[in-house]
Amino acid sequence: MNRFPLPPNSTIGIVGGGQLGRMSAMAAARLGYRCHILTDERDSPAAQVAAGAIVGDYEDPDTLSAFAHTVDVVTFEFENISAAGLDLLAATRPVRPSPAVLRISQDRILEKKFVNAAGVPTAPWAAVTTRAELDAAIATIGLPAVLKTARLGYDGKGQARLHKPEDADAAWAGLAPKPLILEGFVDFACEVSAIVARGADGHAVCFDIVENRHKAGILDITLAPARIPLDIAAEATRVALRVAEAIDLVGLLAVEMFVDARGRVLVNEIAPRPHNSGHWTIDACPASQYELHIRAVAGLPLPPAGRHSDAVMKNLVGPEETALWPQILATPGLIPHLYGKEFARPGRKMGHVTRLFPRGALPGEFGVAAALGVLAEKVPA
Ligand code: AMP
Repeated sequence: MNRFPLPPNSTIGIVGGGQLGRMSAMAAARLGYRCHILTDERDSPAAQVAAGAIVGDYEDPDTLSAFAHTVDVVTFEFENISAAGLDLLAATRPVRPSPAVLRISQDRILEKKFVNAAGVPTAPWAAVTTRAELDAAIATIGLPAVLKTARLGYDGKGQARLHKPEDADAAWAGLAPKPLILEGFVDFACEVSAIVARGADGHAVCFDIVENRHKAGILDITLAPARIPLDIAAEATRVALRVAEAIDLVGLLAVEMFVDARGRVLVNEIAPRPHNSGHWTIDACPASQYELHIRAVAGLPLPPAGRHSDAVMKNLVGPEETALWPQILATPGLIPHLYGKEFARPGRKMGHVTRLFPRGALPGEFGVAAALGVLAEKVPA
């Protein structure tokens, strides 16, 4: 039976209950679809706006099977589900992106191998499974370097910087689960990302390259478009489309990249789902990353990933920034988004704001800070 394109009122299953699922479900609703959410969290941001939710363990076969049987297609906002779990979902319903894509993106070693095999450069890296391999990797790659868990890292968690050989012992002891990966430290000029949507027919579209700034390992601000030379932006777009094609993506893929001091584009990591650095597309584009995610998964045509405005997106992280919500609401021009999370723990992404500018009028450093109003003092110099 050919399910695609999914007719209106079909049900899309989203694995993961966070804000990325919430905004995907909102986009799906606008296209006339229902979403069912699989999450391990009660009252999750995505379930609050979805037609249905199953709360259970991502690894429990009965939960996965019950979920898959209520939907027409399965997609993700959270990709750390086991190989067995993915196989179970795929045996029941079409899974987009495919389990093969998920498996590559779950493991930094597979990911780097795959990206390099597709002819795309990364920082130099080595897989590290034993303490002796760490010394060998340091000898080949040199210092400074970054040691990361191959699996289950996010928002800078599961990593340690190595500046001198004596740092190796503590870093090795402190990181779990093993195996690890050692990456040469990239002295980047800036961090950028691309978001690609690709349909089953191979047609792919890519949003403009954006610039990302982190604070304490968490994305703080995205500037759209990135303020980088046009040829570097074009190269980053080529890289993202190349990876999406090589991995045979059906769905959405975010590609995080470094631009180094020499203007080279190096892939850091990929995520086969909507991405924090694409939140700005809700307000600045006719079709957001969330709409393109749903369209690609549902087999609908993909419109161009164009933007009508330039944009600055700032995350609202933790209690301090979330406490500014009343002032944000009272500031003309700040477009507010809140995710419905009850507790603003430190480091938790609670919402974001977007500010739009006419195309080509993204301001410089001081202008960006001024444009964020009450959040300005939270913007690093
Ligand atoms: P990741 O979890 O790989 O996205 O890393 C989180 C952040 O750590 C990145 O956004 C960078 O700011 C920094 N980082 C990670 N890997 C490297 C690297 N090889 N060189 C320099 N900075 C890095």
